Amino acid sequence: MSGRLAGKVAIVTGSGSGIGQSIAIRFASEGATVVVDYRNNIETSQETASKAEAAGGKAILVRADVTNLADTQNLVNQAYQQLGRCDILVNNAGIEKNAPFWDVTEADYDAVLNVNLKGAFFLTQAFVRRLRDAKLPGRIINISSVHEDLAFPNFSSYCASKGGMRTLMRNLSVELGPLNITINNIAPGAIATPINTKLMEDKPKLDALLKNIPLGRMGTPDEVSGVALFLASDDAAYVTGSTYYVDGGLIRNYHEQ
Ligand code: NAP
Repeated sequence: MSGRLAGKVAIVTGSGSGIGQSIAIRFASEGATVVVDYRNNIETSQETASKAEAAGGKAILVRADVTNLADTQNLVNQAYQQLGRCDILVNNAGIEKNAPFWDVTEADYDAVLNVNLKGAFFLTQAFVRRLRDAKLPGRIINISSVHEDLAFPNFSSYCASKGGMRTLMRNLSVELGPLNITINNIAPGAIATPINTKLMEDKPKLDALLKNIPLGRMGTPDEVSGVALFLASDDAAYVTGSTYYVDGGLIRNYHEQ
C-alpha cells in the first residue's frame, strides 16, 4: 500500500478509544500497520482494528497494561514477532484523577504517575533498545497535554505526570538524537473524548471553558491525529525535542473560574 507511512509499524498505546483510536486509524490510512494496545476494553479495540483495516492498513491487537514492565516488553516483542519491525511509538495511554492537592491519596497519585509517566518511560526504553541493537531509526510521539506547562488546579498528579513527560522528552531528544530516533510531544487542549465525558455533561463548566478557548470550541481526536501523522512522517525528519500544542489557543488565554 502507498501512503506517507507505507511499510512502517506503529505501536499506539490506549488505542481503543479517543485520541489513540483516531491516531491508529489515521496511521493505517497512510499505509502503516498498527499495533493496537488496550488494557480493559477489547471490544472498542477490535473496532479500532476493523476501522484501521477499512482505512486500508493492517492492525494487530495486543493487550498491555503500560504500568506493567513485562507487558510493555511483550508489546514491543509482539510487534517484532508478528510484524518483523517497529518504527513508531505513540505513548498515548493516560488517566487523570480530580482532587484538591491536600486530599490526593497515595493510590491515586501512583495510578496517575504509573500510567502517564512510568508507563511511557519504560515502554520507550523497550522500544529504543531494539532500535539501538539493530541500528535503526525511530519516531516517538508522546501525547502529553497543555498541562505539561499550564497550571490545572485540582489535578496536581496529572500536571506532575505531564510535566515529567515534557522534561523526559527534552532529555531524550538529546540522548536519542545520535541514534537517529526523534521524540516530540503533542499537547492537546480540550478534546471531545471519553476522558472529558463529565465535563461535556456539565454545561456551565463547559461554557466557562469554551470562553477560554480562542477558537471557541473543543477539538476533535482527528485534529490531534493529523499532527501525529506529521510527526511520524518523513516531513518531520528534522523535528525533535519540541511540543506541538493542539488546543485552539487555550494555553494563551486560560483563566481559572
Ligand atoms: P480516553 O478515551 O480515556 O483514552 C485513554 C486511553 O488510555 C484508553 O484507551 C485507556 O484504555 C488507556 N489506558 C489507560 N490506562 C492504561 C494502561 N494502564 N495501559 C494501557 N492503556 C491504558 O481519553 P483521551 O482523551 O483519548 O486520552 C488520550 C491521551 O490524551 C491521554 O494521555 C490524555 O491525558 C491526553 N490528553 C487528552 C486531552 C483531552 O481533552 N481529551 C487533553 C490533553 C491530553 P482502557 O479504557 O482500556 O483503560
